[in-house]
Amino acid sequence: MADGASGECWVFVEHVDGRIRRASLELVAKGREVADELAGTLSAVVLGWKHEGVAGELIRHGVDRVYLVEHHLLKDYQVDLYCKAVSDLALDVKPDIILFSSTFVGRDLAPRVAKRLKTGMTADCLDLQVDKERRLVKQIKSSLGGNIMVEVVTPRHRPQIATVKLGVAVPTVDDRGGIIVKVHPSLDEKCVMVHLIEKIRERDEADLEGADVVVAGGRGAGEWGFKLIRRLAELLGGEVGGTRMAVDEGWVSRERQIGQSGRVVSPKLYMALGISGALQHVVGFSKAGLVIAVNRDPEAPIFEHADIGVVADLKEFLPALINELEKELGAKRA
Ligand SMILES: Cc1cc2nc3c(=O)[nH]c(=O)nc-3n(C[C@H](O)[C@H](O)[C@H](O)COP(=O)(O)OP(=O)(O)OC[C@H]3O[C@@H](n4cnc5c(N)ncnc54)[C@H](O)[C@@H]3O)c2cc1C
Repeated sequence: MADGASGECWVFVEHVDGRIRRASLELVAKGREVADELAGTLSAVVLGWKHEGVAGELIRHGVDRVYLVEHHLLKDYQVDLYCKAVSDLALDVKPDIILFSSTFVGRDLAPRVAKRLKTGMTADCLDLQVDKERRLVKQIKSSLGGNIMVEVVTPRHRPQIATVKLGVAVPTVDDRGGIIVKVHPSLDEKCVMVHLIEKIRERDEADLEGADVVVAGGRGAGEWGFKLIRRLAELLGGEVGGTRMAVDEGWVSRERQIGQSGRVVSPKLYMALGISGALQHVVGFSKAGLVIAVNRDPEAPIFEHADIGVVADLKEFLPALINELEKELGAKRA
């Protein structure tokens, strides 16, 4: 183990109103894989105030140890205090690895923690693999505008820190009888340089990462097409997604962009409608189950990533499919 590291793999866990965020549960599942391959301990670090309830759920999801870091100043996310609490604990325990989600909080906090711990950090990883021999985490991410995938390692410094995109793993129930360690950090309001003025809920809180069905449209769908895509998603009980082009056109909200600079989804069914298949988009659904692509160009690269490819014009395809589904569902309900 390098630099006296403890062999612990940490996952920083985010929670809202006592509910653990889906991104953190995915990260716990990925952290479990990494810890098992390295024969190490998986620990969750949870900051807050009167938040004991989340510890049991983390243990049910396979965490060996929960560091429950409690202080009234940690009730809401505040970057200076959160950074101090996490890095002080890390200086004490010396974990081998710290994983954050590529969420607003994770992206804000991880580089600051890395700076305080004088180590490196890899942002927006799409996957993590393990080099058992060298006890390294291979941090896989896209680079050069999404045209290549690269493997980043932190060979000498510890801990190895990464932010990881949504969709990296599926949360699992795997109770191994973990323990809870309560931590009371020494924090002071004088540490606070950024003040919280108001909390505003995100406009569109669609749970794309948890959806079984995602119906995504691209530039080829057009504004008219997105009206039908919303209806199709509704009939299939799914969520609507889009490419960056569709987002830029204003046909779908920024929160629903799938891909390298958007969200990573892993539904059972992904429908790519009027989407060319650029790598920056494809990385956003590479863990989906069945992929159905519809494009009027038989040479479109999206067909290389689809299980079922339909060469058709969406202007004909979408109304016909919706019509059939409405008939089918209407008949079932009647
Ligand atoms: C750093 C960087 C990050 C990026 N991040 C993302 C990201 O997160 N997500 C993302 O999506 N993109 C991202 N992009 C952009 C990406 O490179 C592509 O430009 C984008 O995905 C293309 O979107 P599109 O498929 O909707 O449009 P287009 O490439 O224009 O494709 C439209 C497709 O629709 C088909 N079509 C047209 N009309 C019809 C019709 N009537 N019926 C059926 N098919 C039709 C066409 O044949 C074509 O294949 C990023 C780019 C960069 C450089």
